[in-house]
Parts: sequence; C-alpha cells; structure tokens
Amino acid sequence: MQVQGQATAASAVRLPSRLVPGCHVEAVAIAKPLLDVSGVTLQYKTKQHLVTATYRVSFHVRKSDRYILLGPSGCGKSTLLKAVGGFLTPTEGTISLNGTSVTGPGPDRMMVFQEFDQLLPWKTVLQNVAFTLIKSGTLSAKQAEKKAAHYVEKVNLTKFKDTYPHMLSGGMKQRVAIARAMAMEPQILLMDEPFAALDALTRRKMQDELLRLWDDTRFTVLFVTHSIQEAVTIGNRILLLSPHPGQVKAGLNSRGIDEADTVTGQKLSDKISRLLFMSDVEDEGGTFHE
Ligand code: ADP
Ligand code: MG
Repeated sequence: MQVQGQATAASAVRLPSRLVPGCHVEAVAIAKPLLDVSGVTLQYKTKQHLVTATYRVSFHVRKSDRYILLGPSGCGKSTLLKAVGGFLTPTEGTISLNGTSVTGPGPDRMMVFQEFDQLLPWKTVLQNVAFTLIKSGTLSAKQAEKKAAHYVEKVNLTKFKDTYPHMLSGGMKQRVAIARAMAMEPQILLMDEPFAALDALTRRKMQDELLRLWDDTRFTVLFVTHSIQEAVTIGNRILLLSPHPGQVKAGLNSRGIDEADTVTGQKLSDKISRLLFMSDVEDEGGTFHE
C-alpha cells in the first residue's frame, strides 16, 4: 500500500507490514521535512533604514535533497542561509530542523562560504579539519585526526594533508572547507556560493566532485548560487527567488546529475531564465513544477 502524496524513496518512512492490519505489503508514510522554513521575513536594521531582505519565504528540504536557492544578487540568499545557520532571527515566521526550532548556531548545520580565507592559516589541511572536530568536544585528538584523515581522503587531498593553506589553490582550499564541514556529519550542509570565486574550469570540476561526494554519502545540502548552470547541475530541487525583498518565485524539480549538458537540462535552464525575468511573484509556498 502506498500512501498518496509527494513521498520519494528518500523522504518516506517504511513501516513493517505487520503494523498494517490485513495488509501484506509495506506501508509508506510521508516523513516530515528535515528543514522547514515557514513564512520567514528577515530584516536588517541600520541607523537610517530597515532593510527587508526576505519576505515570507517558505520551503521544505527533505533528507538527501540537493536543494538550491537561486536568484540574482541581493535577493536574500545569504541572509536566508545565515538564518538557517542560526546567526539571524526571523522577524516573522519559523525555521525548524527535525521538528526543533532553530534558535542559534549548532553542529547540526555546518556552513561553507565563498571566501578562500575560511581556513586557519597556521594549521595544516589535516589540522584544519581535525580542529573543528576537537572543538566540538565529542572526540579525542586522536579520534578527531582519524576522522579528519577520512574526510581529507574523500576530497582527494591526502597528498596535501600536511600542507598549509597559503600553499593551496582556491579549489583545494574549498575542498578543505567542504571536508571540514562534512567531517562534522551535520544534518544539513549549508553552502553559500562555495565555487563562485573559482575559475570556470575549476568550478565545473568542483561541481562534479560535489556530486560524486553526494553519491557516496547522500548528505543533505542547501546550496546557494546565482548561476543557473550550477543550479541545474547540482540541484534536485531549485527554489527561485526574486529580489527587493527576496520572495519565492517558483520551485522546480531537476534531475540534477548529468542533466545540465542535455537537451532537457537546456530546457530547464531556459525555463528558469524565463521565470527569473518574469515580474510577478508566485504564492508563498513555491509550487514545484516538473
Ligand atoms: P544575496 O546573498 O542574495 O546576494 P543578501 O542576503 O546578501 O543577498 O542580501 C539581501 C539584502 O539584504 C540586500 O538588499 C542587502 O543589501 C541587504 N543586506 C545584507 N546584509 C546586510 C547588512 N549586514 N546590513 C544591512 N543590509 C544588508
Ligand atoms: Mg550572497
């Protein structure tokens, strides 16, 4: 028996058939979203102005989603990510992770930023990754180093584990930042244009690497970008935002991996361009289109 709804394999909870009287096949219940952003308005108060960065934005991220926030500069993508990270409090609306309201930063939400200077310059690659694990207080130095080595290997930097950040390329620094965040095994990885400062070729390579990592561990990621190509390549769900203030324009499903260079991918990119240049705003929920 399949309960009707938008449940996917990743979002469904399997119930043993013995729990369903008279039913010999598995029952599937719809799981709650992992991240629930509901009617979120975010504002900055400056001496002269009150800036409304986002207005009543709602979206849901399910486990193992590669969820993209896409929109032009100034539409509130970074502000939303900071609010999910617990660094900003909504003026209106709620944010909850696994049913628990987000009230501050926590190790269940790790961030990766665009800047190359996120690493501690006086620590090696391995030490940078281990440092956060040690600081979180759950592992001994030895255990942290072992786990750090595992994640450094995942981002193909084992050969550079004893290298200091100033000797690494931009792409390598971003890989370290990703390994550091992943090593904490957060519930959700928050990435704010992590590849935007890289050259075009390295950027494509990093996108592929991120997808390979996802294939390996199926982590959940909320990924911010202003690049349509990047959104279509990386995402399985894409939320389009319009600026001033940031509002939901539409939500689109994407097949993600390998789609970007196909005709379907091109059609999706064209559709996103059209939607982004349209002036009207959709409903608060961001209806998902196929
Ligand atoms: P994006 O990441 O989509 O480019 P941001 O979230 O950085 O957009 O910004 C959204 C809006 O909030 C913009 O109008 C921006 O000028 C404003 N903003 C961002 N940070 C601050 C701040 N610290 N103080 C005041 N306004 C800000
Ligand atoms: Mg930004």
